[in-house]
Amino acid sequence: MKLEGKTAIVTGAGRDIGRACAMRLAEEGANVALNYFSSSEGADSAVAEITAAGGKAFALQGDLNSQAGVDALVARTVAEFGGVDILVNNTGGLIARKTIAEMSLEHWNAVMDLNLTSTFLMVKACLPHLKSGAIVNIASQAGRDGGGPGAVAYATSKGAVMTMTRGLAKELGPDIRVNALCPGMIDTDFHNIFTKPEVRKNVENASPLKRQGSPEDIGNLVAYLASEESAFITGANIDINGGMLFS
Ligand code: NAP
Repeated sequence: MKLEGKTAIVTGAGRDIGRACAMRLAEEGANVALNYFSSSEGADSAVAEITAAGGKAFALQGDLNSQAGVDALVARTVAEFGGVDILVNNTGGLIARKTIAEMSLEHWNAVMDLNLTSTFLMVKACLPHLKSGAIVNIASQAGRDGGGPGAVAYATSKGAVMTMTRGLAKELGPDIRVNALCPGMIDTDFHNIFTKPEVRKNVENASPLKRQGSPEDIGNLVAYLASEESAFITGANIDINGGMLFS
């Protein structure tokens, strides 16, 4: 196991990509702190599965747009596991598709808070406990290509996460590595809610691998970036999109 004795925090870990990351890190031996906002059932079942397999995990509800939610998550992790080695910033989303003409300042700020400010708050709160280790941010292909319809705010926030990843890699090295993933279309509620089925089919057909990604595809890459196997990689924004976009 690659992560025996390490402690990982995964945000938004009650469903989809975050849950798959938590399960994969636990499979590699990490103790896992799972944050969730509304998906209590998914987070609790993940903890049950991890502990049944002999691992250690807990789930904690929290709004990571708030300093109090962030602080509670980090404090509980340190109390329970003694520190933090791996931080996976997965919390994020579109909230709604809106063109610039339709967009209010409130919507813009909400998207920035959810994707970018939550990442900033989590990194800052973990730093005193993260003496060495890895941060993995979940950015997006949208951060490279500007996003689909009505996704300007989302794409901009993910582009900022990518830039933040590079800046943090320089600031936090050599002891902490910071990388990000730029997923293409991953089969989750994100697209169940915001993308028409025919659009998803078209993306599948247009991509070399002829499918959407799975949350487990993301979990595998996150586990690699969290481990010493990727010891010479930092500041990278890695495409994981089935060949849909080459950067
Ligand atoms: P998802 O199912 O919509 O997941 C969004 C996650 O964010 C959920 O776990 C949700 O928690 C959490 N969240 C929302 N508000 C929160 C808050 N205030 N505090 C803490 N957590 C909060 O979508 P997903 O596809 O798994 O997305 C995960 C990440 O991957 C996001 O950052 C997304 O932008 C990124 N991404 C997804 C794709 C894709 O194609 N699916 C592509 C590129 C990037 P609850 O469920 O507990 O409320």
